[in-house]
Amino acid sequence: MSPDHESLLRLTFEIAHSATAHGNMPFGALLAGPGGEILLEEENGYFPDLDATAHAECLLATRASKLYREPFLAQCTLYSSAEPCAMCAGAIYWKAMTGDHPDNPTMDLPCRDVFSAGQKSIEVIGPLIETEAEAVHRDAWQPTV
Ligand SMILES: [Zn+2]
Repeated sequence: MSPDHESLLRLTFEIAHSATAHGNMPFGALLAGPGGEILLEEENGYFPDLDATAHAECLLATRASKLYREPFLAQCTLYSSAEPCAMCAGAIYWKAMTGDHPDNPTMDLPCRDVFSAGQKSIEVIGPLIETEAEAVHRDAWQPTV
């Protein structure tokens, strides 16, 4: 049975909400196994260590690489509440919702472009249910005074 991409993506939105509840930026990611079973979840982890590279996707990729070997990971899917940034896309090697907000100056490099520069073929599914994905950020990015 093929994984239900939209349901798994919606779970990343819940993870993103949890990140916000923990005082972090509203980003979440999960790793699903070949049958869509959830293996790992990660929230944005900027706080408490002020780690600007603690994006949910990077944290997830790090944990996944420690727990699973590449042949298995090649059968898995990483779901992210927002398109992975260039750093995360590069780290997992495997846009514009926040725009130019000073707290999240997004690098506008689509993950497809990062993946296409690699030597492995990485499928990008989506964008999907963008309105719901955008709603996760609706109140998080207020103009700074
Ligand atoms: Zn990132």
